[in-house]
Amino acid sequence: MTLAHVLGYPRIGADRELKRAVEAYWQGELDRESLEACGRELRVRHWQAQHDAGLDLVTVGDFAFYDQVLNVSVLVGAVPARFAAEAEVARGEVELDTQFRMARGRAPSGAPAAACEMTKYFDTNYHYLVPELHAGQEFRLASSRLFDEVAEARAAGHPVKVVLTGPLTWLWLGKGREEGFDRLSLLEALLPVYALILGRLAEQGVEWVQLDEPALVQDLPAEWRQAFEFAYNRLRSAPVKLLVATYFGGLGDNLRLAVSLPVDGLHIDTVRAPEQLTAVLDNLPGYKVLSVGAIDGRNIWRADLAALRERLANARMRLGERLWLAPSCSLLHVPVDLEAETELDEELQSWLAFARQKLDETVTLARLLGNRGTDEDRARVAAATAALDARRASPRLHRPEVAQRLESVGDGERSRDNPYPVRAKAQRRALDLPLFPTTTIGSFPQTGEIRAARRAFKNGELGPAAYEAKMREEIADAVRRQESLGIDMLVHGEAERNDMVEYFGEQLEGYVFTRHGWVQSYGSRCVKPPIIVGDVSRPAPMTVVWSRYAQSLTARPMKGMLTGPVTMLQWSFVRDDQPREATCRQIALALRDEVADLEAAGIPAIQIDEPALREGLPLRQGEWQTYLDWAVECFRLTASVARDATQIHTHMCYSEFNDIITAVAALDADVITIETSRSNMELLDAFQDFAYPNEIGPGVYDIHSPNVPEVAWMVQLMEKAAERIPVERLWVNPDCGLKTRGWAEVEPALANMVEAARELRRRHG
Ligand code: GLN
Ligand code: ZN
Repeated sequence: MTLAHVLGYPRIGADRELKRAVEAYWQGELDRESLEACGRELRVRHWQAQHDAGLDLVTVGDFAFYDQVLNVSVLVGAVPARFAAEAEVARGEVELDTQFRMARGRAPSGAPAAACEMTKYFDTNYHYLVPELHAGQEFRLASSRLFDEVAEARAAGHPVKVVLTGPLTWLWLGKGREEGFDRLSLLEALLPVYALILGRLAEQGVEWVQLDEPALVQDLPAEWRQAFEFAYNRLRSAPVKLLVATYFGGLGDNLRLAVSLPVDGLHIDTVRAPEQLTAVLDNLPGYKVLSVGAIDGRNIWRADLAALRERLANARMRLGERLWLAPSCSLLHVPVDLEAETELDEELQSWLAFARQKLDETVTLARLLGNRGTDEDRARVAAATAALDARRASPRLHRPEVAQRLESVGDGERSRDNPYPVRAKAQRRALDLPLFPTTTIGSFPQTGEIRAARRAFKNGELGPAAYEAKMREEIADAVRRQESLGIDMLVHGEAERNDMVEYFGEQLEGYVFTRHGWVQSYGSRCVKPPIIVGDVSRPAPMTVVWSRYAQSLTARPMKGMLTGPVTMLQWSFVRDDQPREATCRQIALALRDEVADLEAAGIPAIQIDEPALREGLPLRQGEWQTYLDWAVECFRLTASVARDATQIHTHMCYSEFNDIITAVAALDADVITIETSRSNMELLDAFQDFAYPNEIGPGVYDIHSPNVPEVAWMVQLMEKAAERIPVERLWVNPDCGLKTRGWAEVEPALANMVEAARELRRRHG
């Protein structure tokens, strides 16, 4: 047989049950017991789904109330002192509320404290909480949750494989603030705790433990490669079998290292890096299991089972029972169940597979490779082949006019008419802003009322005219509030948008939407990425009515608000039948028309959000430049239609900028607003070292925390910024959009922010 398993399954529930429960718990509407019960129910359901599909092992350890990397931090007792959890850690059980405070600054119990830093997991749109490390840190087993979950799964009668972030990748994802601190210095202290965990799991009867080490698909310094050898030599005496899992790319120059680690199995991603299969087969020691990640865990297209079967036949021949089969990575990154999508047309349905369907694909492929295929399996293969043939031939994919327009784009359309200094003068005249101008990032609270109106509109219970009136009311309210707060450059508030990508995708040709295709982004936040099926074009203006109306209400400048081409690409499921950059250029041209239309409607500033620019970076540095070249080109294709006097803003969040600062500057936006408050303005170092030439709004407070920021704190942060950037080029703004907050938090926070800007003007004016 060929063993079938998954590296992880989505935990949110087909109906986002986890999100609802966790948020209700935070609001005090659900008690702790009920929250735990909801978690338990979801786990049991997901194991059952794996079992019913025919997987040979169910995966335990992929569940988290907030984040699986945070789970490991808590498990090994890496709880920063400000959460005052030492006593808990010493007792050996970190409270759930302590975990929530680490994640978001507060919880139903315990004192508020600054949340841990959050950032994107490798090249995904999933955010993890960065382990906080410091020299001499001690670790201990500080949670029994994992073991309880194993017991649950065993009680339900399942053969269990446990998954945990591996020790090296956990350190790799971590951060220490001290000068000269080396994360690897903690490895010796960390390993005994991992050994303890593995020992406990063995006592519970667990045979296999999957240690996720995606760091192995990145460029690793020599010390890290040695550390991998060292660590796994230490762990080899563990009384369980270890499967080291790598994903999101090829092993490249770490291939020999990875195959020779003294463990019982290796998982590789052959979706992102099909070419590595042969090399791994050639180098794999004879005792080792190879888990081949053949079903795409990062995209929603139905697998070509016939082709995969053929491609893997050789691996099966060479490995026999030592071949395992799995999706390329955890299914956390795809929606839960295609069956919920009753409104997608049948043709489209037949082209797709979500997590639940990928279980079936995995099992079918494994059974066929193990020569245990059933009639059902053969029927599945035939159905997949027919659907994929139909997709390739479908007229939904290509629109000749889109290709023609792309071909006719000249170089002149990729840059503004004049360089920034010239534009800045024109903009100063047009906008007449004070020193340290204040603005926000675009969205205001998406109140229950707004969401209800949108729902009613979508269900047809609210007519278009009534819906538009409601949105206008919201816009007017947002404008009024901003004026009375004294904000300098206003936004319309994005009340009409459910999501910054979906909103645009819904109005573009080439995109399709699901009803329930939710994917976890961070904590309780889920996103519903659209699917780019065919060539993209813009049939009509998308935002102009709202922005024009907002501007008509105020004498202050109104900022139009668009999602940039790279983010539109990055946060969608992208067609796999043409290069990503080709799709991105199509989107860029569609958005370019929107910029032109906003400008013609009298909007003096336009923000083109690119929060996903950095996460699109290939995981290997050698491939960066190619990506950055086309990503920057696409942004410029969108923005450069603007006249000198029209101020182009861009916004990015949760990014490290050091290594892409040249590309960020090459975007040539007049103003960039970025997230810096969680890292204490550290991120600005990149802008200073590079001598960033245009204007910057370093976010002065963390919108992901409900705590109201103090004036003095924001002034002090901006003073740090002013040490690095000339004050004439500084803006004052929060670090991201405010849609997830309530007005009760937003108003005092912005009032303080405006007060901080006034204080700064007094000091520097
Ligand atoms: N304009 C968007 C908003 O305010 C930006 C969101 C983001 O960067 N993720 O919501
Ligand atoms: Zn943001």
